[in-house]
Amino acid sequence: MSRTIGVMASEHIAVGLVENREISGAIRIYPEDGSGIEGLLGTPAESIVQGVVEQIRIVAGGKKIDAIGVGVPGVVRDGIIEESPNLPQVKGLNLEIELLQAFRTDDSFVPILILNNADALAAGIAVTQGYMDKFVRVWTLGRGVGYGRYPRRDGVWEGGHSVVSLDPKERFCQCGGVGHLEGIVGNRAMRLRFLDLEPEEVFDNALAGDVRCRDFVRYWHRAIAAATATAVHMDGPGRFFISGSNAKHVDTNLLALYLAEMVKIGPLTGSKMEVMPASDAMAVIGAAVSAEMAALDA
Ligand SMILES: [Zn+2]
Repeated sequence: MSRTIGVMASEHIAVGLVENREISGAIRIYPEDGSGIEGLLGTPAESIVQGVVEQIRIVAGGKKIDAIGVGVPGVVRDGIIEESPNLPQVKGLNLEIELLQAFRTDDSFVPILILNNADALAAGIAVTQGYMDKFVRVWTLGRGVGYGRYPRRDGVWEGGHSVVSLDPKERFCQCGGVGHLEGIVGNRAMRLRFLDLEPEEVFDNALAGDVRCRDFVRYWHRAIAAATATAVHMDGPGRFFISGSNAKHVDTNLLALYLAEMVKIGPLTGSKMEVMPASDAMAVIGAAVSAEMAALDA
C-alpha cells in the first residue's frame, strides 16, 4: 500500500494524505486562518515553505511517506518555481530541494515532485474519473487561465497564454502579452475590460439579454474554443475538461459548435469538452499520484 502526500496551491494551500489513490483523513488548509493565498502575499518564501512542511508533517502523522507531490501555479521546471504570478516571492525557489532537505533522514529520503497545479488537476481527474489510460487535458478558469495535461510530460504548457486574437487592442493579459486567452477569459482581464461590471455581473447580464455582455460571453466561448483547437492541432483530439471558479459559466454546446468550426481535418475532429467542478481532494490526489508515478519511473 502506498502512502503519499499531495499538496495543491491555488486559492489556498491544501494538504492531504493519499492512500491507494484515495484521500485518507482530513485535508488540511494553509494558512489556517482561511485568508488564502492572498493572505500569504506579505509572507517570506522561507516561512511559506516552513508552513507547508508543518502541514505535511501533521498529515503524515509520524509514519513513513513514499512520495510528496506539490502542485503550484506558474512555470515549474526541475523542482524550481520559475514564475508564480499569484505568489511572486516564491519565484526562483527550489521547492524540491527545500522539501528533500526537510524530509530526509540519515538513511532515506522521500521522492518529491513539484508540478504545475493544472497538471496535478488533470492527473486528479484521470485518477478519480477512470481515465488513467487516456489522454486528459484541462482548462482551469479563474483569475488566470491554466492548462494541464495527463499523462504529465516535462515541458512548459502555458496554454492560458495561447494567442487567440490578432487584435492589437487585446492587451488585458497579466503577463503583458497581446491577444492571449487569459486576456479575454481570465477574471482579472474581464475586470479590466468591463470597468463597470464584475465578471459575475457580465455573465448574469448576458443571460438577461444585455447585448454588450451577450456578445462578450460568445467571444469568451470562442476564445476557449480557439485555444482548444490549437491544442488539438498540436497534440491531437481527445477529452478536454473545464474547471475552476468560472467553469460554471461554460455552455459546452456552444463550445462544441465553435470547436467544430475551427477543427476541420477529419482525423482531428471528435474532441469532447466537459465541465468538471474541481475539488481540493481531486487536485491533492492528482499531485500525490503524479509524485508516486514519477518516483516509480525514476
Ligand atoms: Zn498572457
